[in-house]
Amino acid sequence: MAIQTMNPATNEVVKTFKPHTTEEVNQKIEAADKGFQKWRQTSFEERSKLMQKCADILDNDAEKYGRIISLEMGKPLKDGIAEVRKCATACRYYAENAEDFLKDELVETKADKSLIAYQPLGVILAVMPWNFPFWQVFRFLAPALMAGNTGLLKHASNVPQCALAIEEIVRKAGFPEDVFYTLLIGSKEVDAVIQHPAVKAVTLTGSEGAGAHVAATAGKEIKKTVLELGGSDPFIVLDDADLELASENAMKSRMVNTGQSCIAAKRFIVVATIADAFLEKMKKKMAALKTGDPLKDDCDYGPMARPDLAEELEEQVKKSVEKGAVIVLDGGQEKKGSAYFKPMILKNVKPGMPAYEEEMFGPVAAFIVAKDEQDAIRIANDSRFGLAGSVWTQDQERGLKVARQVESGAVFVNAMVASTPEMPFGGIKKSGYGRELSYIGIREFVNQKSIWIG
Ligand code: NAP
Repeated sequence: MAIQTMNPATNEVVKTFKPHTTEEVNQKIEAADKGFQKWRQTSFEERSKLMQKCADILDNDAEKYGRIISLEMGKPLKDGIAEVRKCATACRYYAENAEDFLKDELVETKADKSLIAYQPLGVILAVMPWNFPFWQVFRFLAPALMAGNTGLLKHASNVPQCALAIEEIVRKAGFPEDVFYTLLIGSKEVDAVIQHPAVKAVTLTGSEGAGAHVAATAGKEIKKTVLELGGSDPFIVLDDADLELASENAMKSRMVNTGQSCIAAKRFIVVATIADAFLEKMKKKMAALKTGDPLKDDCDYGPMARPDLAEELEEQVKKSVEKGAVIVLDGGQEKKGSAYFKPMILKNVKPGMPAYEEEMFGPVAAFIVAKDEQDAIRIANDSRFGLAGSVWTQDQERGLKVARQVESGAVFVNAMVASTPEMPFGGIKKSGYGRELSYIGIREFVNQKSIWIG
């Protein structure tokens, strides 16, 4: 795939970038390694000041960067701006808390003194996706740099301006040049970066296939990986749910980022007694949404990020319908070659259909009726993914009990799944392993060293 900005609202190629050569890439890796030797010696206070500055830049220039996001991957401008501001919160969170999260932990043993020390590893590679092109990067970058590591970013090929803007923000904040570099490279060049002796670990947010490939290469090198992969999150509606609240959130959770979110609700599992009433409400809400040009119009949702993604989704719908799924809300790709895709709801979704088995990475909801609570939990867990999910019931205790039984990295009761700096984020099963955010995230890329003084 060419490294280029293509506006998905118009299909216009705005700018094409020359990839970095192998020599340029190696220079940056070696510089980041050298940079690490100095950066690791800096105090938390010093790092924190720079990270706070980063947050100020993100807040002050949120519109400028939000525009780049919208231009490259099509989300409405207001959502791009909100994403940039959210990055500022992650920067502040780690600026304020990193020292505490990584302070020595004294442990009672037979030694005179024993402790766990958390020390940085070195150069960390981040392979990132286009769907939240700022947020995904900052939730890696803020803890990694605060821990004393240095970073390399290989961003998705369709968001190079975002990738370069992030490098610019880090420089503007005053971080030394050699603590963070954007590499403009294609996915084929990633293996060589992982194999470089200076690179100590890799984090990847993206699809199952990309994660498996990167983890295999890193595994051969005995280098640690964190994988944040796809999901097919269940949205479980129980018989005592507030249907107005649940259907409003069902719509929002399916349509966030034009459905292109790993933690978007994808399978709507509703108990039989309230299934029709819920479906009617959800359909009305999804049908009422307006699309438009993400940079010009005050629209609810924009185009998908690329026309080929809309085509892939169209294909998943077609195959599901061939196997018996029924279209309740008709939509789909506006026309061949377009990235615009109108929301759809499919019912009668059954095992064996793409809508049941695969991740639907766009605005198509799979509606599944469950006999009762236990059946709903069974269906929720009948997936190879395990990223997140939500449960809707007016009984919080019941919600908590169900939440404990759902096989995923997160479950929200009566709230839409979202990431927040204070809570760990990540999946189980084919959704990946390792965690980002919270104190757990910052401890992924550190040497958790046992020190024993006898
Ligand atoms: P993708 O195609 O896997 O791409 C993600 C990144 O991996 C891009 O930088 C891509 O580079 C690179 N890549 C792809 N194949 C690779 C390979 N074989 N070796 C090395 N690098 C490779 O995913 P996407 O389409 O951008 O994003 C959508 C997927 O990400 C969905 O499955 C979604 O659920 C998942 N996601 C997960 C989370 C989470 O936190 N769990 C968050 C957001 C998204 P190129 O662009 O150059 O191909």
